[in-house]
This record gives sequence, C-alpha cells and structure tokens, in this order.
Amino acid sequence: MSRVVLVTGGAGFIGSHTCKRLAEAGILPVVFDNLSTGHRTNVRWGPLVEGGLEDTGRIVEAIQTFRPECLIHFAASAYVGESVEDPGKYYRNNVAGSVSLLEACRQAGLNRIVFSSTCATYGVPPRLPITEDTVQLPVNPYGRTKLMIELMLGDYARAYGFRSVALRYFNAAGADPDGQLTERHDPETHLIPRALMAAAGRVDRLDVFGDDYATPDGTCIRDYIHVVDLAEAHVAAVDYLRNGGDPLKANLGSGRGTSVRQVIDAIHQVTRKRVPVQLLARRAGDPPVLYADTTWARQTLGFRPQLSDIETIIKTAAPGFGLEVRS
Ligand code: UDP
Repeated sequence: MSRVVLVTGGAGFIGSHTCKRLAEAGILPVVFDNLSTGHRTNVRWGPLVEGGLEDTGRIVEAIQTFRPECLIHFAASAYVGESVEDPGKYYRNNVAGSVSLLEACRQAGLNRIVFSSTCATYGVPPRLPITEDTVQLPVNPYGRTKLMIELMLGDYARAYGFRSVALRYFNAAGADPDGQLTERHDPETHLIPRALMAAAGRVDRLDVFGDDYATPDGTCIRDYIHVVDLAEAHVAAVDYLRNGGDPLKANLGSGRGTSVRQVIDAIHQVTRKRVPVQLLARRAGDPPVLYADTTWARQTLGFRPQLSDIETIIKTAAPGFGLEVRS
C-alpha cells in the first residue's frame, strides 16, 4: 500500500473501526496509542506505535518513519462526568496532548489533520436540528477541551498552513457487522451498551436518567450514529484533504432523534429480551434533545449514513454482549 495515515487512538472504539475502513480503502493505518483505554487486539490492519501524545519526539519519529499523508486524531479522554470531577486530566490529555501532537506535526511537516470533535461543543443548543454555525457553548470540561482543539486548529491553519477537518460526532454506537470489533469501554457509561448489558443479565438493570423531560415519552432524545458510518466519513475526510479541500467542520449524525425509551423498545424487538430498568432522577448536565443537521457533511464529504437506523445499530452491537438477534 502506498497510502499511509497516522491514527492516534486507533486502538479505541471509533479509531479501530476507522482503521478497518481505511485498510478496505487501500490505505495503511499506522496506530499511535498508549493503550490506556484502547485494546491491543483492536490493532489489526497496520502497525502499532506505542506512545503518548506528550512524547513529541516519538511522534516526529513515527511521522518520519511512515511518511503518512494525513493524521487522524482520536486519542482523548472522553467521559463527560469524569471531566467534571477531574478537569485537570482532560486539559492535560486532550489540550496539552494535542499541542504536543500538533507541534510534532509541524516539526515533521505533516499538515493535514482529521480531528475527532463532538456535539458536546454545542452545549445546550438554542435551536434544533444543530447546524455547524450553531453557537458553541460547551457545558462541561470535556466539550471545552474539544472546542479548544478546534480553535487551535484554526490558528495553526492561519499561521502554519495546516488544513484540517473537524468531525463533530453525535452519539457513536453499533459495532462492526463482521463481528471483528465490538464496543468495549471500562467503565461503560453509554446508553446502548449499558442497556444491552442489562438485557444480557450482565448488570442487574439499566438506570434511566429522567422521564420528565419535555419530549413525547419524557426521556432524553439523542442522535445515534453507527460507528461504521463514522468510519466511512473519516476515509472521505482524508480524501477531501488529499484533493485540496479547505478547512472544514462537519456534523456527523443520523439526522434523527431517538429517545431512551425507543432504544429500550428496539432492544426488546431485536433480541426478544426485556431490558430491566430503574427510573432515576435526571443526570446533571444532560440536554433534553440533541440531533444533527447533516446537510453540510453530505455536501462536502458525500456523507450518507447506511447503518444508522436504531434497529441496525442494535443488531450489530447485540452479539458483542452475547445476545442473539431474533428479528
Ligand atoms: N442514559 C440513561 N442511562 C444510562 C446511560 C445513559 O438513561 O445508563 C441516557 C442519558 O441520560 C442520555 C442518553 O441516555 O439522555 C444518552 O447518554 P450517553 O451517556 O449514552 O451519551 P451522551 O448523550 O451523554 O453523550
């Protein structure tokens, strides 16, 4: 393979699915990961360079060795709750880590970057669906660190000629339909895996955080996007930069909202297993409704989600939790 991309965080959930899609597109993914939350067994489509973002020298060396055309930067701490309790960890790993990484790119002459951003940079949006020009006022340290990196990329573009694509993910979910990769977080805090764990009897029940929101069934609404659709968008972003595309920020979601209750119902429909639930109070900092306008991603990157209906998301995720798909 003559095309090479450097992937920080390539041993993680979205990173590993993206490496698989890159390899299928004929691009060698070189993973740079410290394996703090990622898994060595997820690195199957190219070499692994073990290291942390703070190690500028090691990143420079990896760039000089492998000569990637582009960097995809996934590596980050990504728990909203933890970021509130331990913001220092988030500013160090995400912001300081990205400064070190971008400086390594500058030194080694790599100036194309695809960056994992998030809808958490919007905070509680003033209107829906969320378009890219919606004001970015994050409501937690995690979202603030991601917004800071977006802003840094803008400054590096103006001063040093970097070209970047910031992809603002909504709720990544689902898993590789071939079963080679699954969603594995420790601790697991996300709705769909938690609900599947409850359906499989791996935890006693799912805690539902609030059913008194101003939504049709009272539970929060989110925009779930299949991880393989996200992976595809990263390959498109690498090609976009290769073809000379201008710096870009794009939402990646399904464009549809799904409530917590609809997720629970879909799990029952797909697996014929009930999700035991316990209703709790609202979780601090949860916006009631979030979903994306994805027109811009379609126009610029040709983004057309194929697997992001809730049934397909659950069908692909369920086997990873030992659940059979029955519908
Ligand atoms: N949620 C829930 N129980 C859980 C985990 C999540 O009720 O165990 C709800 C949460 O309040 C939110 C939605 O499910 O409304 C999605 O939460 P998740 O943590 O998966 O993603 P977020 O939208 O917070 O990034």
